[in-house]
Amino acid sequence: MTWRALRFFLFELVGGLLGYLLLPLADAKLGAIVGIVAASALWVLVDLRRGHRLLVWLRLGDSQQAPALAGLWGEAGDRMRRLMRGREQQLAVSENRLVEFLAAMQASPNGVVLIDGGGRIEWCNQTAVEHFGFDAQRDVLQHLGNLLRDPSFTAYQAGGDYSGDIVIPGPQSSTSRPVRLALQLHRYGEGRTLLLSRDVTALEQAEAMRRDFVANVSHEIRTPLTVLSGFVETLQNLRLDDADRQRYLALMAQQAQRMHTLVVDLLTLSRLEGSPLPRADEWVDIRRLIEQCAQEGRELSSMVAPQGQQISVEVQGAWELAGSEAELHSAMANLVNNAVRYTPALGSIGLHWLVDPQGQGEFCVSDSGPGIEAEHLPRLTERFYRVDRSRSRDSGGTGLGLAIVKHVAQRHGAQLRIASKPGQGSRFCMVFPLGRVRASAAS
Ligand code: ADP
Repeated sequence: MTWRALRFFLFELVGGLLGYLLLPLADAKLGAIVGIVAASALWVLVDLRRGHRLLVWLRLGDSQQAPALAGLWGEAGDRMRRLMRGREQQLAVSENRLVEFLAAMQASPNGVVLIDGGGRIEWCNQTAVEHFGFDAQRDVLQHLGNLLRDPSFTAYQAGGDYSGDIVIPGPQSSTSRPVRLALQLHRYGEGRTLLLSRDVTALEQAEAMRRDFVANVSHEIRTPLTVLSGFVETLQNLRLDDADRQRYLALMAQQAQRMHTLVVDLLTLSRLEGSPLPRADEWVDIRRLIEQCAQEGRELSSMVAPQGQQISVEVQGAWELAGSEAELHSAMANLVNNAVRYTPALGSIGLHWLVDPQGQGEFCVSDSGPGIEAEHLPRLTERFYRVDRSRSRDSGGTGLGLAIVKHVAQRHGAQLRIASKPGQGSRFCMVFPLGRVRASAAS
């Protein structure tokens, strides 16, 4: 500052001196005054020009284009340029943070919608686009209420209590493909809200399945238990002759057996769900396994169809299957067991094995039984699904056999194929992939 004042006085002095030297004849004093005034005017003019250039630059607002100025304005311009650069850097950092933050919100498995104080959409991520069918560009600044018209959500939003979430059907939900969304609003900033959405379809389905399962198991156990306790009461209260006593005890044993089978099947299912996948390097001899199932089928047949059923086995070649012998036996035996139970006396049952030209192994059980209507086929592997309830129960079925078969098939990478027509018998096949089938070393 002192230097600048000194320069100003020097400039004035030079002006005065020049005036004094150039106009000494008229009046040296006047000459000096004129010189000083002229120097001041020049100083002010130069300063004004610099100030003007600075103003023009500030109006443009581009820190890169700062004019190179000397003097007071030069320093002011310099300081302004530095301030602007600092601000620009801060802005760049903030913008980067915002971009990273939005990228994190994009990566969220939940739908995220930012809503301004007026209830308009400010931003939404891709998951929200999929959940609500929004258009991330077009729907910005649209009223959320115009796009999400579910009455329960409207009431929830208006109610103002956002401590819990609500579940609504997704806008793209249909009867064949239901979608359930859990929505929750969170307040933030000044009057702003954040809408989070979660797809809970699978969760709700699993919960419904669990409820159904518990209800089904309870029902399946309650029926034989009621019958058993009825017989126990009868035996306690009535004086029965020996023949009647034996008859009642046989019926009680039958009900106890029914509960036992149910518990065994439930345990098999839970083991299948909870245990690690069967190994792919343990090889099971197919012919032996199928012969074993056929033999067990014949034993069952002698009990359920004393007039006889014809059970045949056809195994092409000598093959081995990779997997768990216990699981494979359980699945195959279940298919044979069903064929025997549902095929009337004198009917025929066939167990087949072949390896197709692509190397896939096919195990099939076909029967000449009543067959199944097409509408039931997709549901046969559901737990406790039965086409004919009384027939299944009378023959000792639990409704879990095909669910076990399907599980075992899945765990071995196999497909369960069912072909059946009413009056034309049924054919249940497990098709094993190439990698699980090999020619037997003995062959
Ligand atoms: P269940 O213990 O009742 O036999 P499954 O899961 O093994 O239960 O079979 C489901 C239903 O599929 C059975 O109740 C029956 O109605 C039908 N079913 C299964 N196998 C056959 C078959 N070979 N012939 C006719 N119907 C069958």
